This record gives sequence, C-alpha cells and structure tokens, in this order.
Amino acid sequence: MAYRVNEIFYSLQGEGYYTGSPAVFLRFSGCNLACDFCDTDHFHGEEMDLPEILEKISVYPSRHIVITGGEPSLQLDNELVNLLHDAGYYIQVETNGTHPLPEEVDWVTCSPKEGGECVLKKIDELKVVFLGQDVDEIASRYPAMHYFLQPCSCSNTTETVEYILSHPYWRLSLQTHKLINIQ
Ligand code: SF4
Repeated sequence: MAYRVNEIFYSLQGEGYYTGSPAVFLRFSGCNLACDFCDTDHFHGEEMDLPEILEKISVYPSRHIVITGGEPSLQLDNELVNLLHDAGYYIQVETNGTHPLPEEVDWVTCSPKEGGECVLKKIDELKVVFLGQDVDEIASRYPAMHYFLQPCSCSNTTETVEYILSHPYWRLSLQTHKLINIQ
C-alpha cells in the first residue's frame, strides 16, 4: 500500500490542546472538501510505503505524531496506525470529521468545515476558527472533550476572547507557530 504524502517535518504543535509539544507532522495529500480559504496544496505528493514513512519520521526524537492534511482520514488505515503504535508513537489526527477514522487513533482533533457532517464516534478536541458564526450550534453537532475557539489568522482576537469570556466552555487557541515564525 502506498500513501500520498505532501510533507513530513518536525516542529512544535502550534494550536489547540497540545500547543507547544514537539511533534512529527505527517501531512497527507488530498481532501474530500474544497474550502475557499484552503491554503493546502492538494495535488503535490510523493508516493511512500510504510517502511519509507517509518524511516523518515524516526529520525526525529519525538514520538508524538500529528497526522494532518488535506484530509488524513482518506488514507489513514489500521496498518499505518498499528505500525506507528508498535514503534511507540502517540497518534494525533487533525480531521474535518466527515470521514471515518481507525478507532485506535489516540487523539482526534476535529476542525469542522461548512457543509460537512460529522461521522466520528469520538472527538477529543473540537477546534473552530471563529468567524462570528453560531459556534455553539456547531459544538452541539460535534460533541467533544475539549472546545477550542481560534481567531482567524489573529485578525479577530478581541472578538474571540470576548466570546469565550461569555461562553466559558470554550478555550482560546492561537496559531502560536505563526506568532514565533516557525513551520
Ligand atoms: S477541509 Fe481543510 S484541507 Fe480540506 S479543503 Fe477545507 S481547509 Fe482545505
């Protein structure tokens, strides 16, 4: 089985619950949605098999892997999950929630997109970019352990903070990697 990989890199998790944690990022190519604001290159990708992925990620010291995209659930399967667990990895997946994931994933970060319908059985953190939309209605459709609200590219931080202060089950998430200029 070959996977289409957009990039593999090592950095700090910039957003959400694990902000500041060193992690290996495995970015798959391709998505089932086409959001207007998407800044991901869906077309460029290198075909890699399991041993090639393991070889590339294991040069980094962290055993926290963030599998992202695109939409990673389109390619992530039990074989890759088992291989990563056998190699000692803690698996975090960043998904739009519209496609099923292998159950053994350790941490699910869901960022719902307009028009998407949740098919996930378990969400650990819901991360919503605040654009003034009805985020509580979204939260009611995507039940999660933790709820993060994120300003849109730090442009509406004041409004986001005000909203959280009056709806205190939300917590603030910032794109800290952008604030400190790292990948
Ligand atoms: S769900 Fe994410 S990766 Fe897919 S098109 Fe929308 S922003 Fe891009």
